[in-house]
Amino acid sequence: MDKKIEKSGVNQIINQNIKKKYYRKNVDFFKLVEKIKLWPSRTGTLHGIKSIVITGKKAEIITHCNECFVVNNSRNSRASRWIRNKWYSSGCSKCKIPSWKIEKYSTTVMNQKWGSGL
Ligand SMILES: [Zn+2]
Repeated sequence: MDKKIEKSGVNQIINQNIKKKYYRKNVDFFKLVEKIKLWPSRTGTLHGIKSIVITGKKAEIITHCNECFVVNNSRNSRASRWIRNKWYSSGCSKCKIPSWKIEKYSTTVMNQKWGSGL
């Protein structure tokens, strides 16, 4: 079911509000970021990720507002926690994250027992 929706862009948008996406809590942090394509900055602003280049235990992230930074692959990092708990205050005005994307993000559930391992 999940796969089917993923492949159909139109259905995906329609089902956005009712369909929850589950990810395993212990999923690889970078893979999760790659999938979600959102990044909560230290100030609580949610940025859209334009590109993420993973090199070993580090990843270079470029946001849509052209911020570039290197992060460590750690499930215990601040960003990792914030993503799991979906903590953010507002979306970045420069990144212009579509509302359905934020909606999808906020309905994403990290589950210990089941969900996509990516
Ligand atoms: Zn931004």
